[in-house]
Amino acid sequence: MKDKILICGPCSAESQEQVLQTAFALSKRIELTYFRAGVWKPRTRPGSFEGAGITALKWLQEVSNQTGINVITEVATPDHVKAILKYGFKAVWIGARTTSNPFSVQEIADELRGTNIEVFVKNPVNPDIELWQGALERFIKAGTNRIHAIHRGFYPFEKTKLRNIPKWEIPIELKRRMPDIKVICDPSHIAGSIDFIEEIAQKAMDLNMDGLMIESHIDPENALSDSKQQLEPRALSDMLNNLVVRCEKFENEVFIKQIEQLRDQIDSIDQQMIELLSQRMGIVEEIGKYKQENNVSILQLRRWQQIIESRIEQGQKLGLSEDFIRKLLTFVHKESITCQSEIFKNNKD
Ligand code: PEP
Ligand code: MN
Repeated sequence: MKDKILICGPCSAESQEQVLQTAFALSKRIELTYFRAGVWKPRTRPGSFEGAGITALKWLQEVSNQTGINVITEVATPDHVKAILKYGFKAVWIGARTTSNPFSVQEIADELRGTNIEVFVKNPVNPDIELWQGALERFIKAGTNRIHAIHRGFYPFEKTKLRNIPKWEIPIELKRRMPDIKVICDPSHIAGSIDFIEEIAQKAMDLNMDGLMIESHIDPENALSDSKQQLEPRALSDMLNNLVVRCEKFENEVFIKQIEQLRDQIDSIDQQMIELLSQRMGIVEEIGKYKQENNVSILQLRRWQQIIESRIEQGQKLGLSEDFIRKLLTFVHKESITCQSEIFKNNKD
């Protein structure tokens, strides 16, 4: 995990003993960037443990004093920010529910103005990359220069194996849009159960994410929040040792050559694909004109069904999945319809 950000600790700070025991057990085995614990817990429904509040900040300060590890907690209001500043915190994270609200984000960003606090922004609960990017931008505009993102998955209405759907394409797109921002992954809140944490953490490493935030509790069974997804410190350390950490840069020369050759082939195939798509659209245009002149509708359902069926069959023979071919053709077909609709609109007399 060298060069990766690693944030571990319980979902919530429950008592001074609990945070100290967890922190000592972790620090014996793992080199942490931050020890985490929620002090104010944003619970979706009322009635569950809502955190110990300011008292817990003292416990975390004690963790920092006794172990030498920096601590981090979630803030959701300007008052929370005032409190963590008083207790000497160096970092905070913004929870998924808070990121969804630009007013709250702006108020927190304003309160942090002029401090040197490191800020981690979780993705919003809904898969809206604009909201996530917008929240990061609000902190940057307010002068926060140590700012990172945390990918914690997105709320699914349907029952799924995982608590939150990863939708990996969203953190990847965020990295593309904001290449200077580090994006770490929170496998605990994606998994929702200790059974799937390793699989998610490995995927994050395979995608070269910049680190991990993982929940760990000295006695997970009796945790006051998220008990199913918290790993006992030893289990967490074993899991981290099992992970294969990949790097983006290749140093081995033979490997570099091989990759370059394969990438040349991909480049050439992509060029051909684009040329073919352009030729296809040219023909679509011609057909559009004929349809318009002969008063024939744009959508020809039977033809469309034949296309889908025959292409899926061909794709499957060549090892491509039905789902992939269907999505690809639906996309191409949609563009054809847009193109022909334009022709119909422009030639309306
Ligand atoms: C947490 O980290 O404990 C937490 C509440 O996370 P999220 O905001 O991702 O639900
Ligand atoms: Mn939690």
